[in-house]
Amino acid sequence: MEVSFTCQAAPGDRPNDDYAIVSERFVVVLDGATAPVGVESGCVHDVPWLVARLGTHLARLLEAAEPMPLVEVLRAGIVATMASHADTCDLTNRDSPSSTVAVLRRHGGMLDYAVLGDSAVMIGRNDGELILAHDDRTSFLSAYTVEAVSAARNTEDGFWIASNQPNAAEYAITGSIPESEATRAAVVTDGITRLVERYGRTWADLLDRLDKTGPAQLVADVRDEERATPPGTYRGKVHDDATAVFCRF
Ligand SMILES: [Zn+2]
Repeated sequence: MEVSFTCQAAPGDRPNDDYAIVSERFVVVLDGATAPVGVESGCVHDVPWLVARLGTHLARLLEAAEPMPLVEVLRAGIVATMASHADTCDLTNRDSPSSTVAVLRRHGGMLDYAVLGDSAVMIGRNDGELILAHDDRTSFLSAYTVEAVSAARNTEDGFWIASNQPNAAEYAITGSIPESEATRAAVVTDGITRLVERYGRTWADLLDRLDKTGPAQLVADVRDEERATPPGTYRGKVHDDATAVFCRF
């Protein structure tokens, strides 16, 4: 597996809440949620701390001598991350910091993937079909006030994300295909998926663009689109942190 990637903060001076760890055997991509102003999360840490803890715990678990199903890796990663700040922070707070997780793993001739939250995994197959794992539940909430999003987090009627509930792992989108059937794959955060969700590209376009021009150019495409869009056109941030990992098999 040949891998190239970029993980870039949004333009400006805010820290990068995305995080990526890549090896020859796996890809882990995280997108930490920035707490709304004035919300008491019960946590003394910032988002970069959280995604670095969760990412390195997941990498350690992915390297275990006895490979676990990815749902178990996610669950154990959430448990380990909670343990990393159980002594300093209130993990019963329902606004405890959170992160999306997208994992791609090579294992025993198979390519396994898991997506929790609104990051995405795409796999191009040698028959020309595209496998897409993308949970867009956060685009269909009944309301987007701070209170409504908080109440929807890690509930059946809302959306699922890595935070202070290990059972959220059970709601990840997962799948597996023989590696011999895959030609290329991408793992991206919602800073990249907005090319599809807002700017009219297709998932296949994203994979082709990554293949032809590389991850940094795909982020440059996002920034061009963001700058060309009138302020207020879309809910949420004008710019977002953006991570794109491209794999060729
Ligand atoms: Zn904390």
